[in-house]
Amino acid sequence: MSSTPPFRIGLGYDIHPLVGGRPCILGGVAIPSDVGPDGHSDADVLLHAAADAVLGAAGLRDIGYYFPNTDPGLKGLDSARILERAIREAGAAGWQLGNLDIVLIGERPKVMAYVESIRASVARIAGIQPNQVGIKATTNEGMDSIGQGKALAVQAVCLVFAK
Ligand code: MG
Repeated sequence: MSSTPPFRIGLGYDIHPLVGGRPCILGGVAIPSDVGPDGHSDADVLLHAAADAVLGAAGLRDIGYYFPNTDPGLKGLDSARILERAIREAGAAGWQLGNLDIVLIGERPKVMAYVESIRASVARIAGIQPNQVGIKATTNEGMDSIGQGKALAVQAVCLVFAK
């Protein structure tokens, strides 16, 4: 009998600086904002953290391994492709998604009005039901770079179970 349990969890974390002149795309949803996460891809910090949680749960390498930010072909990449790839790789390793739980940490933009849209969007990209996705948002209580509105961070956990 295998000593490996039929489920595993993974943790993902990401942070991007917030700058003017960038769209603010979170979980695949464009949020009206005068600042957006800076980065090589579309800088969807939420999907990056989610993808790393999936990869970690499946015991795979991180998104920098699959999508190096030095690859000019990936400039402006739709991060939905990153989460899709993570789930495909997890599937190939024998795992399917149980749930994703995601926490956005930032002072701006205010995302409360978009939480359900983000939830539906992440579920659609991940190929799971909205009730398998949790989206929460909190501030950093004014502290540090996040608290000063200079950056947006995301933490995510993912549970996978054996197919
Ligand atoms: Mg990132």
